[in-house]
Amino acid sequence: MDTILIFGHKNPDTDAICSAIAYSDLKNSLGYKTEAVRLGSISKETQFALDTFSVPAPDLAAEPLRKNHAVILVDHNEPSQSIDNLEEVNIVEVVDHHRISNFSSDQPVYFRTEPVGCTATILYKIYKEHELEPDAAIAGLMLSAIISDTLLFKSPTTTEADRKAALALSKLADVEMETFGMELLKAGAGTENLDPTDIISIDAKLFKMGSANVEIAQINVVDTSNVQSRSEEIKNAISEKIENYDLDLFVLLITDILTSESLVLALGAEQHKFEQAFSTTLKDNTTFLSGIVSRKKQVVPPLTNAFAD
Ligand code: MN
Ligand code: MN
Repeated sequence: MDTILIFGHKNPDTDAICSAIAYSDLKNSLGYKTEAVRLGSISKETQFALDTFSVPAPDLAAEPLRKNHAVILVDHNEPSQSIDNLEEVNIVEVVDHHRISNFSSDQPVYFRTEPVGCTATILYKIYKEHELEPDAAIAGLMLSAIISDTLLFKSPTTTEADRKAALALSKLADVEMETFGMELLKAGAGTENLDPTDIISIDAKLFKMGSANVEIAQINVVDTSNVQSRSEEIKNAISEKIENYDLDLFVLLITDILTSESLVLALGAEQHKFEQAFSTTLKDNTTFLSGIVSRKKQVVPPLTNAFAD
């Protein structure tokens, strides 16, 4: 029997990496043969989590995967965010907390999504259902994923289940949640050493909205001034990406994790859809959205609606 590959989405964030590692750990302790892999490079934030708990990064997936290879998707289900030959592999499970879009399978599939703040929160429940407990390192990674996805519980995606799981995991990992959480977020929040291409691609996701190709990228900062002073070169990088990938709209959210506000750059032929969705007017392709921190809950739904009109 093949090793089942477990992976999160392209341009992996901390949840995509840590949930793949944690779910592989859980499945292996249940007697399956699985391996966590990744679909992109490790972010600074994720590296900080891996270093803190002394866990090696998963290997990069060797794409294209062999036909009918058994896989488990975590933290995503949209084909546009997964391996390129997804339709050729055998998806045996999906564990996710995003909208379900364009997903289909030939075989029956264990498909578990819950509208919680993080995939790791669902994994924590699955551990409990099996009367198992992650070890300290895995618990630390799961906690990191929850802190990352919920922006230390400030995101409106946060649920009671996330808080409960995080509290239990912080005890298992033996870390103080608030202190560690701020360190983790800050580790991923610097843009000074990043070139514009990195800024717009580290956490970028492609969405099909109607017939439009919409890419939404997000980067966390503790101060938007660095990005603001480089906005021309960032816009040039976005324009190039739009051209090369035939995108109709590109949205970059520059999210201040201390104030829970986002500076937004929006470019592309369909940029008026962005203005429509947020009842805002772009000035130099830029606007400021107060209280907007969640791509999934606060940006994707209104944009999807705008493209449905
Ligand atoms: Mn994710
Ligand atoms: Mn997630």
